[in-house]
Amino acid sequence: MSKTETKSTVLLKHHLKALKLPTMLAEAEKIAQRCAADNADHLAFLLQLVELELIERERKAAERRLKAARFPATKMLDEFDFSARPSVNKPQVLELVKGEYLDRRENILLVGPSGTGKTHLATAFGMAACSQGRKVRFFRVTELVTLLVEAKEERHLLRMRQQLAKLDLLVLDELGYVPASKAGAELLFDVIATAYERNSLVVTTNLPFENWTEVLGSERLTGAALDRLTHRCHILETKGESYRLQDAKRRRRRAD
Ligand code: ADP
Ligand code: MG
Repeated sequence: MSKTETKSTVLLKHHLKALKLPTMLAEAEKIAQRCAADNADHLAFLLQLVELELIERERKAAERRLKAARFPATKMLDEFDFSARPSVNKPQVLELVKGEYLDRRENILLVGPSGTGKTHLATAFGMAACSQGRKVRFFRVTELVTLLVEAKEERHLLRMRQQLAKLDLLVLDELGYVPASKAGAELLFDVIATAYERNSLVVTTNLPFENWTEVLGSERLTGAALDRLTHRCHILETKGESYRLQDAKRRRRRAD
């Protein structure tokens, strides 16, 4: 708003700043000129400005949500080669990524050997949820257990649990690689049990169900955790060979 610095534009600038409407402030003059040229009425002008502010706000909020989720890498569904993983049902995945399971507080469990795309799919579900306005946090299970144990030792476990309860979706990656301590297993179980009532979980694991006792240490905890996890749950199995290994073989065949 530099060219026509009248008293009212100075005041308008001030008020828009005070109302925290930075996009309207930045765009007002340009849109006013365009609307004058187009003979658009005042309400059309106001609508355009308000829309720009809204779009920019949503863009920033989405950026913040994505950052807060702490995904280890950007993995989208369009980069996932379904033909390389026939055990994964593509229509089911495309349906899930729409996010309705989150409204129903259902879980997704990705089970399969290493390198078969579990983390890729879990991240894609998480990123899709983020872009749908949900609060998401990605944890490797070992990392989560360490954070929980630390929080307990430093007496801010309650705060951490409150933060977790605010999430719409918790991604727990690599359940199974941890021979967790008894205390760690109980804290992890507590997160799973609490999520059961409030939010959705996407869990990846390379462990078949019968080996889960190894993670949680006790039959009782394992049974209870499995019960809760699988009660309202979509199970996706990523069977077969590691994707990179498949890919390397394909390249080699092409080179021969
Ligand atoms: P897991 O978590 O099951 O060990 P990842 O999801 O980490 O496997 O997959 C290993 C690597 O292979 C990642 O870089 C991932 O993006 C890639 N990958 C796995 N499966 C596929 C697939 N079907 N299409 C495209 N890339 C894949
Ligand atoms: Mg993984």
